[in-house]
Amino acid sequence: MDQSKKTVKTTCCYCGVGCGIVVQQQANGRLTLEGDKSHPVNKGHLCSKGMNLHYTAMDYSDRLLYPQMRMNRSMPLQRVSWDAALERTATVFRRFIEKYGPDSVAFYVSGQCLTEEYYLVNKLIKGFIGSNNIDTNSRLCMSSAVAGYKLSLGEDSVPICYDDIEQADVFFVQGANPAWCHPILWQRIEAHKAINPQVKIITVDPRITDTARSADLHLAIRPGTDITLNHAIGRELIENGHIDSDFILDHTYGFSAYREGVMQRTVEEAADICGLTPEAIRKAARWIGQAKGFLSLWTMGMNQSVIGVNKNLSLINLHLITGRIGTPGNGPFSLTGQPNAMGGRETGGLANSLPAHRDVTNPEHRAFMENFWKSPQPIAHKPGLTATEMFDALKDDRLKAIWIINTNPLVSMPDVQQTELALQKSRFVVVQDISQRADTVAFADVVLPAAAWLEKDGTMTNAERRITYLPKLMDAPGEALPDLEIILRFAQKMGFQEHFNHSSAAEVYEEYVKTTANTNINISGLTHVEIQKQRSVQWPYSPTQTAESAKRLFADHLFFTPNKRAQIKAVPDENRSEPTDPEFPLVLTTGRVRDHWHTMTKTDKVARLQQHTSQPELQLHPQDAAARGIRDQQLVVVSGRRGEVRVKARLSEDTKPGVCFLPMHWGKIQGSILGRANNLTNSLVDPISKEPDFKFTAVQVAIF
Ligand code: SF4
Repeated sequence: MDQSKKTVKTTCCYCGVGCGIVVQQQANGRLTLEGDKSHPVNKGHLCSKGMNLHYTAMDYSDRLLYPQMRMNRSMPLQRVSWDAALERTATVFRRFIEKYGPDSVAFYVSGQCLTEEYYLVNKLIKGFIGSNNIDTNSRLCMSSAVAGYKLSLGEDSVPICYDDIEQADVFFVQGANPAWCHPILWQRIEAHKAINPQVKIITVDPRITDTARSADLHLAIRPGTDITLNHAIGRELIENGHIDSDFILDHTYGFSAYREGVMQRTVEEAADICGLTPEAIRKAARWIGQAKGFLSLWTMGMNQSVIGVNKNLSLINLHLITGRIGTPGNGPFSLTGQPNAMGGRETGGLANSLPAHRDVTNPEHRAFMENFWKSPQPIAHKPGLTATEMFDALKDDRLKAIWIINTNPLVSMPDVQQTELALQKSRFVVVQDISQRADTVAFADVVLPAAAWLEKDGTMTNAERRITYLPKLMDAPGEALPDLEIILRFAQKMGFQEHFNHSSAAEVYEEYVKTTANTNINISGLTHVEIQKQRSVQWPYSPTQTAESAKRLFADHLFFTPNKRAQIKAVPDENRSEPTDPEFPLVLTTGRVRDHWHTMTKTDKVARLQQHTSQPELQLHPQDAAARGIRDQQLVVVSGRRGEVRVKARLSEDTKPGVCFLPMHWGKIQGSILGRANNLTNSLVDPISKEPDFKFTAVQVAIF
């Protein structure tokens, strides 16, 4: 073996698929990578983003290298020592907490954070500062799925495993474009269909995406009508005897109210509302009803909605009435957007939760964690501020200080001009990030440089509950530190050293997994060493179980609800998004393009990835364009009730008339093009999940 080269097996840090990657560092420091052929998720395959990941790790051009701070925002940021930056932050936090109480400070973290980092920052604010004001950008993508699972299955638990793909014969893909956003899973579905031509793929999307192009049936619904469609399918399943009455009777509750609800509209009425034909709905229901393996896949089209939780429930209900859950090839499968959104939720990364899916509103759960952490005061009993609530609270001075870790809310938040205003008005902002391209740096009082992928170690959980270990390969540039180390040092400055004296990520993990004992997500006893030995481990874990037995949840049809039955929860099929009107007659949806990731602080550095889509363009139906005299590639202004963007129009029949699409990746861009999609989106959120309504904004388009 060549001793001059260092090799590590790690995991891709983009999407929640969680592909295994082998990275090699040459003697000259250069990195090469390939897909890990031994990894059960991707078996050596990588998508365009994954296979170019090493370029982002070798390019330090935008990296934050030193702690910086300033005493007021009219001054430039100055390089300071770690000690000075953290001492000042601790002084300001302590002052606010003493004067205004613990809820005057907050942490806004990210699905990019590793599990150990998530756990530690949660422990700090919930267990020691005494506030539940921590939320994650997963609030913007997965919280509707979380609430849907909790209400129907009793806990935030994805029941399937990826191997169910090869066992399914009907795929129902609703509000998702996995061909672009979860490519390795999509390739598995395509490969499965290639050798099993009888496999059926149904997609539900107002746009013809690459996923829809591969489908046997594309249901191009009107935005916001998913529940109406799912109810119509439910009605068809009931009327045609395609439900599992024994399963409903023995393992669920709530069916009568559900049946009553779905019977309120005929399939013809539903088709009219959805913009579909009754025949198309009946065909989808027939395929689902006759399936041996029925797998439903969904993501932001369902979650990012003012009715996101109800959309999730309407889909999960199709599994519960057919009994298609917990068996090979069957189950609801929420596609996770971020690499460690699931791991973060496990550690209690949302404002309403505690480690191991405990709930801050549950007195027993609080008592357990207070005791476990030896908290100096009781854990606050009410949920903290969620992502959007934090910025509202900053704006009206209820919140005095925010610490933003590895996320870029000035691009990703809805109605983002309000987020900008909130940061402008805020008293104290700490930005902890790897990149000076993070738009928040301009508003920071203290900037803390963080270590990136390959520069720190820890674990992540992917979309099938699979935990992998990411080793450190190289040192971070400049004085950048692992996020874990930054939080530990800060906690010590706050006077909590006795409880934050861990010497490694492995030690933090050892502490965290103890909180999972006797819970549904038990991984107690799991260590970094054991994960490395097995390469990856699905939860729940016990040393005696086989990998096969951990693959899918609910094989025994005992759910995580108090009565062990799944809830078939009847939901109304109304949409509460902002209405269109003659002034703003078009519906704007936002989403990803194939080769960019989130706010592009990484992917924009890779020339190959820029080639696919180098600038934001508005996808507009030719009919809507003709009505406005707009030509292809003409500069247009897209205006809404909160703001506008100026981008080029790309005329395409891939979108439904009346619906236009803008990618979400771009922030403010200099010059004549202004492509920040979230200038337009609104602040409506789902009342339960608090997830924003990114997929439905009333707009007008005109020639610029
Ligand atoms: Fe990375 Fe997701 Fe692509 Fe896999 S599918 S290589 S995890 S971006």
